[in-house]
Amino acid sequence: MSTGASQTESYPEIREGIRALCQSFPPEYHRGVDAAHAYPEAFVDALTREGWMAALIPEQYGGTGLGLTEASVIMEEINRAGGNSGACHGQMYNMNTLIRHGSEAQRARYLPKIAAGELRLQSMGVTEPTTGTDTTKIKTTAVKKGDRYVVNGQKVWISRVQHSDLMILLARTTPLGEVRKKSEGLSIFLVDIREAVKAGMEVRPIPNMVNHETSELFFDDLEIPADNLIGEEGQGFKYILTGLNAERTLIAAECIGDGYWFTDKVVEYTKNRVVFGRPIGQNQGVQFPIAEAHIEVEAANLMRYEACRLYDAGLPCGAEANMAKYLAAKASWEAANACIQFHGGFGFACEYDIERKFRETRLYQVAPISTNLILSYVAEHILGMPRSY
Ligand SMILES: Cc1cc2nc3c(=O)[nH]c(=O)nc-3n(C[C@H](O)[C@H](O)[C@H](O)COP(=O)(O)OP(=O)(O)OC[C@H]3O[C@@H](n4cnc5c(N)ncnc54)[C@H](O)[C@@H]3O)c2cc1C
Repeated sequence: MSTGASQTESYPEIREGIRALCQSFPPEYHRGVDAAHAYPEAFVDALTREGWMAALIPEQYGGTGLGLTEASVIMEEINRAGGNSGACHGQMYNMNTLIRHGSEAQRARYLPKIAAGELRLQSMGVTEPTTGTDTTKIKTTAVKKGDRYVVNGQKVWISRVQHSDLMILLARTTPLGEVRKKSEGLSIFLVDIREAVKAGMEVRPIPNMVNHETSELFFDDLEIPADNLIGEEGQGFKYILTGLNAERTLIAAECIGDGYWFTDKVVEYTKNRVVFGRPIGQNQGVQFPIAEAHIEVEAANLMRYEACRLYDAGLPCGAEANMAKYLAAKASWEAANACIQFHGGFGFACEYDIERKFRETRLYQVAPISTNLILSYVAEHILGMPRSY
């Protein structure tokens, strides 16, 4: 029996659909993609063909009109099946930014094509090398000139740019010194990546520990049509939070999927691995870290559903999205540690997939927001403690 069966059988039709699809992409497939530092094209194509990547797109634009809750179940199941939603979660977390804040003309222009799989909206460009998590200090600027914005600056760690047609880009449109609040004067744009790489955006991949297809971006007088501004100029920080809260919640679900994958795997192994004449899983020193990880995964799961519920109701969910991501990333990391530890040397063999999943789940202590920054958000905004930075 699965270790997580009690809490995780909600939305059975979605789960069955994703599990069936994932069966055509066994561990060898994901292992091979990781070893080759490649993009799982066939897997993402299959998800798109079956309509899963259009889950959040309203039916009138050709999608299935589901909520973040259902999207999170899709992401969870991919990770639980041994895959990595990091290859495709961008489309899920970017989607509501466009749906909620884009104009009707933008929705009509892009959503049907995304739903049909003709376009991918997989990238979001926020992070910059010199400002890091201090997002309101970003230095990339977009200056309006007639019917265009001219973009200059630099981004770092921007994922899936080579595998996406569109990117949501955050840039400063009013200098920091001229705004009342530092969160004002930022704007978001829909960038056509295929056009941008020919006209002022350079992409330099960053070799790194996880196969996230992540790059540095350099903007040198990149011109974006003014029509591609999303929402009102200067209000972009507010809009990007729609994407960031969705991202945190979806990544919480992915970590929960990872958590179940690790605990299922280690429970099975420790029941069967005999050392000193008995299964190693008979030792409490082995059982307890696994049981502890399972408890934490289940608890994180509850917070994830609460964050999803609030998000789908259009209610403030910053606290819950952050707390869900914090709990889930911590739980999956503890599950990963227990899994690798109790596989002994075999945990390090690529063919067990543990070392790959271990690397993949480790990322979520740092990205998309580090655990420290979540703790300081909770201390300041939830508990009312003095601002520390
Ligand atoms: C594989 C990968 C994919 C990514 N994909 C994207 C993407 O698609 N789009 C995008 O925009 N970004 C992306 N990122 C960037 C990611 O969101 C950032 O790396 C993350 O938010 C941390 O920012 P930073 O790296 O600038 O760290 P910094 O802000 O420099 O912080 C470094 C560390 O210092 C600590 N710290 C910083 N400030 C404080 C403080 N005030 N109090 C306590 N501790 C503090 C934290 O522990 C933090 O981990 C990606 C990153 C990676 C590694």
